[in-house]
Amino acid sequence: MIVDFPTAALPYGVFSQEHRRPRLGVGVGTRIIDLDQAATTGRLTSVDPSLLTTGRLNELLAAGRPTWEALRSELLAKVPTGELGDGREQSGVNMHLAWEVADYVDFYSSRHHAENLGRLFRPNAKPLMPNWLHMPVGYHGRAGTVVVDGTPVVRPSGQHAVDGTIVFGPTNRLDIELEIGFVLGGPTVAGSPVQIGDAADHLFGVVMLNDWSARDIQAWEYQPLGPFLGKSFATSVSAWVLPLQALESVRVAGVEQTDPVPKDYLQSDTPWHLELQLEVWMRPAGTEEATKIAAVSSVEGLYWNAAQQLAHLTVNGASIREGDLFGTGTISGPEPEQAGSLIELSMGGTQPFQVGGQDRTFLNDGDEIILFGKAVTEHGDIPLGPVSGVIQPGRH
Ligand code: MN
Repeated sequence: MIVDFPTAALPYGVFSQEHRRPRLGVGVGTRIIDLDQAATTGRLTSVDPSLLTTGRLNELLAAGRPTWEALRSELLAKVPTGELGDGREQSGVNMHLAWEVADYVDFYSSRHHAENLGRLFRPNAKPLMPNWLHMPVGYHGRAGTVVVDGTPVVRPSGQHAVDGTIVFGPTNRLDIELEIGFVLGGPTVAGSPVQIGDAADHLFGVVMLNDWSARDIQAWEYQPLGPFLGKSFATSVSAWVLPLQALESVRVAGVEQTDPVPKDYLQSDTPWHLELQLEVWMRPAGTEEATKIAAVSSVEGLYWNAAQQLAHLTVNGASIREGDLFGTGTISGPEPEQAGSLIELSMGGTQPFQVGGQDRTFLNDGDEIILFGKAVTEHGDIPLGPVSGVIQPGRH
């Protein structure tokens, strides 16, 4: 999917043409500029060329924040002048997953989403679990099944209940989760938690993320150890990784946390919420047009921010590696049309919603989902790359 990036964005992506190997590039306008070529021909001088010539972001991620900033400064200076060439139209290249995902964690940091799901999954209990307001709750996901924008998603099979009987078969409740993903770099050593004040040294950039979820499989398996096969079959991310530096002007404080006050390691005076406008679009099977089905602001939707999530992720001394990824958790607002998942939009599958003249509760084979995100600034919009996927029938 082609995106028109302003020069304030300069997101990274990995592309290939015809049978050539994947190369690292940077997006500007509707074009992508070849950083591999710029480095090997001596036109980029701020960083070691070997960081830009491996066809993935991992080496740059490992190099750390001073290197990230040096490269971005040079790109901001040289891309607009054409010094790095005109690049190629996005329409003429294939985009790839921009980095090799190391570990993947998914949080659950939208209070509205957690309360909505708590009511649906545990109707007779308090919607929030007792730990939820004390820490960013999360689970470890499956890094090897993170896929890039446009990759089809095969309907998963598993054990689930049908009319009170446990069966094995394709999920009947295939869902999406609207999330932002954070790509990490600047590795740490075991035993040394990332202090919340040092979060910027490790948060390289953001992607749009869809945490595909099979709700019936999830409901049967998730107690007591959390999500497993209901989510591990696929997680989609955008092809473009937007550096956090591009979002400086939309960093805000977010919701005040007073009841309870978080532990010291989760407290920071730095505004760490990103104000992003997020949208969910669906193109129903057999149709040409996609329709917007939900929209929410990430600030309105999220209780815990990325710095708190990173501090919590490492507070036990767990080290991080370049290429680690974490998701915010589904981002939902208080209103029904601000829901970041179909289980919320359809009230647990009981109230179908209309899209393109069709009724939906969960996803049909052939449906396409596209998640969009952008920062609205006084100098214009800064888009994140979108993330899309079409559902293919299960194979079993
Ligand atoms: Mn999720």
